[in-house]
Amino acid sequence: DQSHPWPSSLTVTRLRSSNLSCLADSRYKTLRHSSCNSGGELLKQIVMITARLQQAINDQITAELWSSNLYLQMSYFLRHQGWDGYAIWLREHALEEREHATRMADYLCDRGGFVKLQMIDVVPEGWGSIKEIFDHALSHEKHVSKMINTIVTLSREEEDYATENFFRTFVDEQVEEEALFGNIVDKLNKAGESG
Ligand code: MG
Repeated sequence: DQSHPWPSSLTVTRLRSSNLSCLADSRYKTLRHSSCNSGGELLKQIVMITARLQQAINDQITAELWSSNLYLQMSYFLRHQGWDGYAIWLREHALEEREHATRMADYLCDRGGFVKLQMIDVVPEGWGSIKEIFDHALSHEKHVSKMINTIVTLSREEEDYATENFFRTFVDEQVEEEALFGNIVDKLNKAGESG
């Protein structure tokens, strides 16, 4: 079905020996490049990931980029209020979220999947206090953790253990994220009590 936006699951084609000489740094890189070549002989891509998982990972990439924008917006909001230290920290964190997105996109590509960048919704832009910002960030991270867990569950359903393993690193990552934001919320709560 040509109209389907995602490559179908488990489409396996054999590489021809004439094309093997093109394999330079990594075979996945060449596969990606070859699959985009509109002229001459088209090399079909070896797809090692199901359409459902491709959709879920593309949605997660979108969520990571949205998170990045959220923290960047929070960063500039805080800077505007004179909280420069927290602003710099959140700006760095925004870059980390972007890095998560590209790591996931690289993984999807390596599995022969198609990376589809989707529309990123506008992020909130106003908060009542610094405490409200970090409460919001913590609850957002808890939401991201649930999304990651859903991908791990889906990977098991699809019997895709490579994807399960890959996303387990993000399960660990989310423990760190929740702890980081949770510690800041604790500190702000204590400061609020003593001040
Ligand atoms: Mg992330």
